[in-house]
Amino acid sequence: MPYTYDDQNVFAKILRGEIPCKKVKETAHALAFHDISAQAPHHVLVIPKGPYVCYDHFALEASDAEIVDFTRTVGEVCRMLGVQPGEGGAGYRVISNAGQDGVQEVPHLHVHVLGGRHLGRMLQ
Ligand code: IMP
Repeated sequence: MPYTYDDQNVFAKILRGEIPCKKVKETAHALAFHDISAQAPHHVLVIPKGPYVCYDHFALEASDAEIVDFTRTVGEVCRMLGVQPGEGGAGYRVISNAGQDGVQEVPHLHVHVLGGRHLGRMLQ
C-alpha cells in the first residue's frame, strides 16, 4: 500500500456527516458538492467514498464499480451544471491535484469541476 489514508481529513468528515456540505449528487460510490471557496461560477468537487488519497491510488486500487461510478458522476455533474460543450454549455475543466508538487490541500481524492467562465490557458 503506497499511501496511508488519514481519516481525519475534511472530506472524510463530510462523508461521515460530521460537517455539512452543499450536496450536488450522491451515488453508491461517489459524492459531489460545492467547493467552499469557489474559483468560478461553477465549482464542484467530486470525491469517491472510499479511502483513496489521490488519483493513482484510486485508479490502481479501487474496484471497477467504484471507478465507473465515480467517472460517470463527474460526467453527470458536468451535465447537471449545463457546462458540457456542444449541447448549449460552453465547456469546463476537470482538475485533480496530488501531493506536494500538485499542491493538494485535502488528502482525499477529489476532482474539481470548474465552469461558467472562460478559464484561461493552464498549460503553455
Ligand atoms: P486541493 O486539495 O488543493 O485540490 O483543494 C481542496 C479544495 O477543497 C479547495 O478548493 C477548498 O476550497 C475545498 N474545501 C476545503 N474544505 C472544504 C469544505 O469543508 N467544503 C467544501 N470544500 C472545501
